[in-house]
Amino acid sequence: MWAGVEPSAQVHPPCSRGCDDRAVTDLASSASGPSSESTPEQTRSHSRTGMDPDSIRRGIVDHLRYSIGRPAATLRPEHYYRALALAVRDRMQDNRVASTRTSLELGHKVVCYFSAEFLMGPQLGVNLLDLGIEAAAATALAELGQDLDEVLACEEEPGLGNGGLGRLAACYLDSLATLERPAIGYGIRYEYGIFDQEIRDGWQVEKTDNWLVAGNPWEIAKPDVSYRVGWRGYSEHYRDAGDVDRVRWVPGRVLRGVAYDTPVQGYDVRTCNVLTLWSAHAVDSFALAAFNTGDYYKAVEDEVNSETVTKVLYPNDEPEAGKRLRLLQQYFFVSCSLQHILHILDDLAGTSVRALPERFAVQLNDTHPSIAVAELMRLLVDERRLDWDEAWAITVATFGYTNHTLLPEALETWPLAMFDESLPRHLEIIYEINRRFLDEVRAAFPGDEARLRRMSLIGEEGGKTVRMAHLATVGSHAINGVAALHTELLEHSVLADFYQLWPERFGNKTNGVTPRRFLARANPGLRELLDATIGPGWLTDLDRLRELEPFADDPTFQRQWREVKRGNKARLARYVHEHTGIELNPDWLFDIQVKRIHEYKRQHLNVLHIVTLYHRLKQDPDATIAPRAFVFGGKAAPGYFLAKRIIKLINAVGERVNNDPDVNRFLRVAFVPNFNVQNAELIYPAADLSEQISTAGKEASGTGNMKFMMNGALTIGTLDGANVEIRDEAGPENFFLFGRTADEVEQIKRDGYRPADYVDGNPELAAVLGLIGDGTFTHGDTEVLRPVVDNLYRDDPFLVLADYAAYLEAQERVSAAWADSAGWTRMSIYNSARSGKFSSDRAIAEYCDDIWDVGPVPVPK
Ligand SMILES: *Cc1c(COP(=O)(O)O)cnc(C)c1O
Repeated sequence: MWAGVEPSAQVHPPCSRGCDDRAVTDLASSASGPSSESTPEQTRSHSRTGMDPDSIRRGIVDHLRYSIGRPAATLRPEHYYRALALAVRDRMQDNRVASTRTSLELGHKVVCYFSAEFLMGPQLGVNLLDLGIEAAAATALAELGQDLDEVLACEEEPGLGNGGLGRLAACYLDSLATLERPAIGYGIRYEYGIFDQEIRDGWQVEKTDNWLVAGNPWEIAKPDVSYRVGWRGYSEHYRDAGDVDRVRWVPGRVLRGVAYDTPVQGYDVRTCNVLTLWSAHAVDSFALAAFNTGDYYKAVEDEVNSETVTKVLYPNDEPEAGKRLRLLQQYFFVSCSLQHILHILDDLAGTSVRALPERFAVQLNDTHPSIAVAELMRLLVDERRLDWDEAWAITVATFGYTNHTLLPEALETWPLAMFDESLPRHLEIIYEINRRFLDEVRAAFPGDEARLRRMSLIGEEGGKTVRMAHLATVGSHAINGVAALHTELLEHSVLADFYQLWPERFGNKTNGVTPRRFLARANPGLRELLDATIGPGWLTDLDRLRELEPFADDPTFQRQWREVKRGNKARLARYVHEHTGIELNPDWLFDIQVKRIHEYKRQHLNVLHIVTLYHRLKQDPDATIAPRAFVFGGKAAPGYFLAKRIIKLINAVGERVNNDPDVNRFLRVAFVPNFNVQNAELIYPAADLSEQISTAGKEASGTGNMKFMMNGALTIGTLDGANVEIRDEAGPENFFLFGRTADEVEQIKRDGYRPADYVDGNPELAAVLGLIGDGTFTHGDTEVLRPVVDNLYRDDPFLVLADYAAYLEAQERVSAAWADSAGWTRMSIYNSARSGKFSSDRAIAEYCDDIWDVGPVPVPK
């Protein structure tokens, strides 16, 4: 038998218990660590743990010498970056040891956040903030002749996510640590993260993101934390010694996952959690077997094949069907993580596997990790020999599932044949889950065959498939959407049948973002103003921003507020100029849309507004409008034809507008290449206007909308996702609402959407579409942008033309409001002041209370 009842014994034969448990390793090292039992005075001055400038300087010097090892004369800022990062990691590691010890000794429940993506962003800046050593580090570097900002700029961010979903996971890790909840993030250590985007001649060009070549100072490889993961093969039925029928899976292939740990520090607390990412390798013994038979190259080939599993992050918005490697990625990281959790449980003396739900809460971030439901059943039934009912109760009590999308094409399904070939034993388990589940449905809704077909874990339409959203739903005790509107739509559309069966399992958890990164780090000017105006404390209690409201009409405060915003706009203008050559005037209205490029997000609707303004200015030489800088950013999935054309459209319009003296006195358009967390921190704080213009009912929540709001942007938006709640919090008078509601969108589709009707009744829109199609923006080429125009005229499911007139009218309201500077500033202040709800601290507190039942575990300082 392969990875058997005692997985660790297979990996490290001489040491069946404890040797590959990170927790135990940490405890062991703490005994001889510099800080463990030393006095506070000694702690403060130690070069690995001290928080004063002198200790930090000595820490940097030590790492320059012993970890980096270059002659002093050749040291550049990137070497200081690595040395400082390692010095900071030492300090976090010290907290990590204390955190592990506290939660283990006191027997607390741990949150396990399973996510195929973690878009962490640069680490150094936030870690300095969290540890309270920004000033000390700046002083230490200055003594070494280095500038902190220059050193910070050397960090290459790990792009292990596509966009909002991955960034949400990262914000949640930050809040879990800050709220002192024991937590482990589990994911995949992609060797190549999301591609780097370059813009050439207006087109997106993808470059591989080789983020690990320069080394990653934040992670600690744990080669001793390693598990086997099977694949393919067949299942075998047998009778065990007690004459009980059992099944074991005999995989055709086996690979090995190795843990890489990154510490996740909480803000102003000792708690330091961990992000464990799994990397795939060949199984040594298999390689050895091939080697012994003389087939050395077979062994090497096996290594190469195994390692491809964690090679590359898949872009979203591309069909997954047939991407077997993607299924293997998902299964790989889920299996490693569950084995690790069970192993920790085994190591807790006297803790039976039956205690799993009391000690661990596992959250499935979308369906990507939903194979965990079947894998945990396999581990419990086949390997731990629990009976089915008991195993199922444990499984359901352990998992929670967060749904992130209503778009039918984004709901994961796998072709049955491929699934069967890849994970035969898991398919058997899914069939058995399904059989019992459908019995339950039959009992609740007798005679309703259509309902059984709709709810089955196996889809029958267009070839049989495994429906991962159904598996996640059936296997979880709590199912949540990510904004109030989204949860309601879930309950009444995609998961309506499940909601009718188990209404008590459903709930809403509106997303949030971390104010540490997206306010304090991203907007140091505002941070300073807030500290000076309402005092400290708001950074961990964001509702306190409400204390700004009394200052909203105070002329002095308004002036300070505008100065901060202007500084942020000047900072972004410098960045844009450096990266695109386009000049933006910080006194203009900054109108910004940054997010993945997708038809449902409707960047092209934004462009229709710009072209309308262009057209008006060209038609009437005396026309004047309030000057605006339009800023875009975002990546398109490499295989998403229309999204890539939309990028070309934005850049084509930009090129024309920016170079035409008739209009460039009033309009500028810039596309910021390679939108990522690093430049996001420059972009959100520079916005006057936040574009959140998705078709109602399509954006589950959005989190960019929240980052803009916190930083004082006003939103122009539809009643979609969390926009609804943003408007409720800000007050409708501080929000520019437009567009069809989700219900109206559905109604229009039911009646038959006829885009031409909206053009026939609107000569200006006809002219605008004409300009895009006739080569005005493409040097006479009438083909390049044709697909975008044709698409709007055809069966566009996102109803761009139906919302055009309302969008233009809302933009008129924006321009009128902008003309009143004091009025605009007041609205801007109100938006920030009322953004407290959108802190990820609020979201995580709700998850902890309602789903995970995990309370704070303060780690003594
Ligand atoms: C916040 C964020 C997103 C999500 O933006 P939405 O507007 O919610 O789609 C995507 N990418 C990055 C880098 C972000 O920081």
